[in-house]
Amino acid sequence: MRDFQLPDLMHRVFDAIDASDDVRARLAQRDRVMEVQIVVRRDDGSLAVLPGWRVQYDTTLGPAKGGVRFHPEVSPTEVTELAFWMTLKCALMNLPFGGGKGGVKVDPKALSPIELERLARGYVRGIFEVLGPDDDIPAPDVNTNGRVMGWMADEYSIIERRRQPAAVTGKPICLGGSAGRVSATGQGALHVLDAWLARQDRAPAETRVAVQGFGNAGAHFASLAHAAGYRVVAVSDSSGAVVREDGLDPGPLRAFKADGGHLADYDGAGCKTVGGDALLALDVDVLALAALQNAVTEDNVGDVRAGTVLELANGPVSPGADGALREREVTVLPDILVNAGGVTVSYYEWIQGRTGDYWDADTVAGRLKTRMDRTAAQVLDLAEEAAIPPREAAYRIAVGRIADAIDSRGNST
Ligand code: GLU
Repeated sequence: MRDFQLPDLMHRVFDAIDASDDVRARLAQRDRVMEVQIVVRRDDGSLAVLPGWRVQYDTTLGPAKGGVRFHPEVSPTEVTELAFWMTLKCALMNLPFGGGKGGVKVDPKALSPIELERLARGYVRGIFEVLGPDDDIPAPDVNTNGRVMGWMADEYSIIERRRQPAAVTGKPICLGGSAGRVSATGQGALHVLDAWLARQDRAPAETRVAVQGFGNAGAHFASLAHAAGYRVVAVSDSSGAVVREDGLDPGPLRAFKADGGHLADYDGAGCKTVGGDALLALDVDVLALAALQNAVTEDNVGDVRAGTVLELANGPVSPGADGALREREVTVLPDILVNAGGVTVSYYEWIQGRTGDYWDADTVAGRLKTRMDRTAAQVLDLAEEAAIPPREAAYRIAVGRIADAIDSRGNST
């Protein structure tokens, strides 16, 4: 297994912001990793022992914050990389959080609902000592959702022997979750896309969008983009893609998926189905990547025809592909900005859980829009002024904030 390595871009960013040696040394590796074996009694009486991790990459700006993913390919290196991106994402959004991430190596589709609940609770018991509203706050990620967060929050509260609504975010609203959290990642991405296209004087109705990935982020983004007047011409899941040249309404597709359907089997009026790879090669204006990391690599980057790539997943464009897109003047709107709506509303949920003052949906939506618009403007302005890609601009702002805090705090050994 390869080890985590700080991306080359970070070294360029350190030089650009004239980072101190302290900053370079502090950010070179993760602060902490916890590995646990989670013991789950299967419904057939057998025992599954599943490896899980929680990584806190850097906590200079506040408690570690980040999701937990359940996936058969999860590794400590991947969790570290994701925790690193969370560190930058929280700093970019000016949230009082550091970055963390969790993962369990498991195929959740092979588990019954009660086995999944045992896994969620077992994970919290395993890593309990590093968690807490002031230490490390989990949230949903790939293959985890509000239901799983409800179990995790409940397990945490049982061990603490008191209610701790701020210990986990992304909970169902009835358990102290926030209005707007479920759609927040998709909504935030749409704010960023709106901001970018407004600068090009391009209207939604003349913008063709393809969406790879139809999980929480991709499905909400597709629906919201459609409602805002964009022409969503294709969406895909891991089975394949549905294409409709005149634009499609993602609503029925979401209902079809919710009933257990695979998009490759979808048969709607005017729709055709193609393989997932074909979606990347469609002649669209915007390619929204909402599946997993490394969806676009040096091997398939030549297929991409979109002028703008919107990263809803974490790390969907590999560094090599990123360079190739830059050379072709394709704009990549980076993950740490585009998908930051999720953690931003998680922050709002954390505030609400700590204060007991719960906000209505309009308040959450308004605050999310203000913060997304402001941050998108900062990133796009810096990219333009310094003639650098938006990813580099976002990294400069994020690392600059963490660096200021590291240098201001001094050597806290
Ligand atoms: N998993 C999401 C992300 O990658 C959300 C994290 C959170 O809400 O803490 O940004």
